[in-house]
Amino acid sequence: MNYEAIIGLEVHAQLLTKTKIFCGCSTEFGAPPNTHTCAVCLGMPGVLPVLNRKVVDYTIRMALATNCTIARESRFARKNYFYPDLPKGYQISQYELPIAEHGHVFIEVNGNRKRIGITRIHMEEDAGKLIHDPYRPVSIVDFNRTGVPLIEIVSEPDIRTSEEAGAYLRQLRAILRYLEICDGNMEEGSFRCDANVSVRPVGTDTFGTRTELKNMNSFKHVENALAYEIRRQKAIIEDGGKVVQETRLWDPDKGVTASMRGKEEAHDYRYFPDPDLLPLVIDEGWVEEIRSTLPELPDEKQARFIEAYEIPSYDAQVLTSSRALADYFEACVKRFPSPKTVSNWVMGSVLGALKAENKTIEESPVPPERLAELLRLIDSGVISGKIAKTVFDEMVSSGKPPETIVQEKGLVQVTDADAIADAVKQVLADHAKEVSDYKAGKTKLFGFFVGQVMKATRGKANPKMVNEILKRMLEG
Ligand code: ADP
Ligand code: MG
Ligand code: ZN
Repeated sequence: MNYEAIIGLEVHAQLLTKTKIFCGCSTEFGAPPNTHTCAVCLGMPGVLPVLNRKVVDYTIRMALATNCTIARESRFARKNYFYPDLPKGYQISQYELPIAEHGHVFIEVNGNRKRIGITRIHMEEDAGKLIHDPYRPVSIVDFNRTGVPLIEIVSEPDIRTSEEAGAYLRQLRAILRYLEICDGNMEEGSFRCDANVSVRPVGTDTFGTRTELKNMNSFKHVENALAYEIRRQKAIIEDGGKVVQETRLWDPDKGVTASMRGKEEAHDYRYFPDPDLLPLVIDEGWVEEIRSTLPELPDEKQARFIEAYEIPSYDAQVLTSSRALADYFEACVKRFPSPKTVSNWVMGSVLGALKAENKTIEESPVPPERLAELLRLIDSGVISGKIAKTVFDEMVSSGKPPETIVQEKGLVQVTDADAIADAVKQVLADHAKEVSDYKAGKTKLFGFFVGQVMKATRGKANPKMVNEILKRMLEG
């Protein structure tokens, strides 16, 4: 029997407002514990929350960018539960009437485009942070994060594989970052994901029992946790068992999910409309004003890159994964108008160097102007493409311009036919046996001779000329 997975994701994104959602406290990260707090976010009796307009503005941006319908009127609700990081005893969220619904985004996996529905987006406040002291039997709480604005983005159960889940998350994160409303940092928790997953035999149209996975703080974790959980559920069903509805935690060290709590222990939050907050009414004019200031979004940019630069869809997808990377590529193409060559260098050498040094494109040791200079040196025949790789590495480590490196290291390409012919003659004289083998029909040795000549010229000989001269001398 063939099975397929059904996946729906709940994503929490922390909004980059300066102040909290219902008070004027700063949202700045890393301040000493409990210094960004006030009576409102500490939940003192008798205080009143006041909604931060910027939070609504940012949420509308995301809702528009994900093709949602924006509710003319929405409501805040109290989600009641007890936990030491939640001083009020309830979290202000949205429940029956969220600000946005019925959206979608497109993802691309292995060249296939797919639409993933978004059920709803709502606003809510974050809770505080509990720190469990490893040396004493105590926990300490930092309320700086209490009241920091979040949006929750709930997907339809349209996702079928762990790869699609990864692609969907990357797409959401890219959109949030293009909009500059969330930094998307999964490790620091400003972009978090809970994954709901079930499996069913292919061809059936009802869903199986799902589990909810938590504790995944990277895209890889989400993909690995889902892949594991899909295998686990299939095995249970194949053994004639039943999947239990529960919340499971991903253990990245062991590479398994383990039960955290069952359905019986699930909370009943007793949601009800928050009487301290008026219904939120959004007029069309405000929405249109925001719509008119939206930037070019990842999908639009990708389509434009394919069209304007005639690069493959895969290249366009990688290059538009962040605005900064797309800007880098365009800045380089402006100076060296050969888009596919630029794309190859950016996707290969530039991204490779950034990964090795754990840097972002904004911190690239090779700015776009310098990369363009390097590409011009290849184009004009001053250096070969192979030497250019060495020069690039040197640019990364020393920060010097390419011309300086080429000069200092004497890397200018040898295009003097006589000099190359001398090197070829020497190689042939040194390898008499190989030459006679070659002449006896072992033509595969041609590559060996090319290699020897390149070695003798320390990689500087023009490869095309080496080939021509070798051929002439061996066959002449
Ligand atoms: P809850 O409020 O308990 O989290 P929801 O109905 O809001 O439940 O669903 C949460 C997420 O679970 C959504 O993303 C939804 O698409 C997904 N989902 C619902 N049913 C299933 C299922 N049977 N298998 C996989 N995902 C599911
Ligand atoms: Mg849930
Ligand atoms: Zn406060």
